[in-house]
Amino acid sequence: MSREFSLKNTRNIGIMAHIDAGKTTTTERILFFTGRTHKIGEVHEGAATMDWMEQEQERGITITSAATTAQWNGHRINIIDTPGHVDFTVEVERSLRVLDGAVGVFSAKEGVEPQSETVWRQADRYSVPRIAYVNKMDIIGADFLNVIKDMRERLQANAVAIQIPIGAESDFIGVIDIVERVAYTYKDDLGKDPEKIEIPSEYADQVEELRTELIEKVAELDEELTMKYLEGEEITIPEIKAALRKGVCEVKIFPVIVGSSYRNKGVQLMLDAVVDYLPSPLDVPAIKGTLEDGEEGSRPSSDTEPFAALAFKIMTDPYVGRLTFFRVYSGVLKSGSYVLNSTKGKRERIGRILQMHANSRQEISEVYSGDIAAAVGLKDTTTGDTLCDEKNTIILESMNFPEPVISVAIEPKTKADQDKLGIAISKLAEEDPTFRAHTDEETNQTIISGMGELHLEILVDRMFREFKVETNVGKPQVAYRETFRQAAKVEGKFVRQSGGKGQFGHCWVEFTPLEPGTGFIFENKTVGGSIPREFIAPIQ
Ligand code: GDP
Repeated sequence: MSREFSLKNTRNIGIMAHIDAGKTTTTERILFFTGRTHKIGEVHEGAATMDWMEQEQERGITITSAATTAQWNGHRINIIDTPGHVDFTVEVERSLRVLDGAVGVFSAKEGVEPQSETVWRQADRYSVPRIAYVNKMDIIGADFLNVIKDMRERLQANAVAIQIPIGAESDFIGVIDIVERVAYTYKDDLGKDPEKIEIPSEYADQVEELRTELIEKVAELDEELTMKYLEGEEITIPEIKAALRKGVCEVKIFPVIVGSSYRNKGVQLMLDAVVDYLPSPLDVPAIKGTLEDGEEGSRPSSDTEPFAALAFKIMTDPYVGRLTFFRVYSGVLKSGSYVLNSTKGKRERIGRILQMHANSRQEISEVYSGDIAAAVGLKDTTTGDTLCDEKNTIILESMNFPEPVISVAIEPKTKADQDKLGIAISKLAEEDPTFRAHTDEETNQTIISGMGELHLEILVDRMFREFKVETNVGKPQVAYRETFRQAAKVEGKFVRQSGGKGQFGHCWVEFTPLEPGTGFIFENKTVGGSIPREFIAPIQ
């Protein structure tokens, strides 16, 4: 077997958006136009192919970060799903780590929304090259140029139009390509074969005005072009494209395109823009890491380098079990071989390797640098771990996972399910590094923590759906705490003195000696109320 697509013709992209801007619809249309889905499933009817889990469809949000492979004009485009809800910023973070470029989706009416801002800034932090796609051009209030203005003002983004819409709202009928000076209109509802037409005369002036702006911006990015521009020489289409591509790859400029995914307008042109402007794995800096001797090393995108990959998502698949999604940075991986999980210092056997398409999965025997796949059979690998060649150890730069911010108490509805709950929690925690659980020492309650209410709600829902554990969830009981100093002569160590039960509830007191001989601190902790001070008689 050899590689089907060269590294140069590979794109690893994410579709990033505020919830409701149209990420799912756009992804789905991409899969439709790249020929892997045969039916357009309506998102509102809950038949989206990208959303794997039932609850995502019910809630209309995308939580998983599964990767899907598509093909366009001789290129492989791996789409790494990124969620739009702020509770899942960690999911966004992990996908940003493994993708090389992204399409930021904005609503033509709403423009830059709070969460699009959050996601955009995260992408800034990871220096992700981006194209902005202004979707929903068909809805009332759609205003393309206003979104660009918004991007410049609110995101301080060097955004530049490379397309403009023909018409707006219900009159949105096509797209003008400013670079090539051509227009496309759509004849049928499926938008299969956009018709290439001349630019409608009423748009001619606007196109020239925006083209001048584009050339000025592009010229700023390239010294040679600056000279040409200043000398009044014509800058050709290939020159514009090459300079723009370079500027995008260096995260200096963001081309803006337009469409309506729902109306099947503009999606093929978006795929062309992905190929034209977003980087291949060869256009991004080699990933860095720490070598065995503690020195810094790197793994450039190449099949002849030692194998190194990053596990970025663990999923439990109903058919094959545990799936570990990974991005190969360098080298080649064969199914059935052994790798080192250098993060954990464990050897792992790669069983089967799968590549996910829109609605099918393909078993492959080898996966090459720059590509994304899922391995079956890894036992100890969790999100963020490096998998590498056993003889060429490296730990790749990984991701930052924030600490959980909210906690709830959870218990099974039937006591007999306690063990099942424990299993569910540990499996989910393996998949999700921002999900934690512990048993509160004082109250004996199981406390789960996560990134937001919705995050925890979804996990609890999964416990029910996937692990068949029904639970009650509530606020953790807060143990009453009071700390006061007692001036008393104490010698020796009084660590924990059990309090009484009964009218004071279950309670205990902790004595922490200050300095021997000077006194001690009482920590008065009770469940469901305080205990009177006289109850805690200082021990002499
Ligand atoms: P996501 O939350 O970003 O994944 O957004 P969805 O793709 O689920 O879209 C949210 C809603 O907007 C759905 O009801 C879509 O059908 C609708 N939608 C998406 N794109 C368009 C569009 O271009 N035009 C119109 N009119 N509706 C759209």
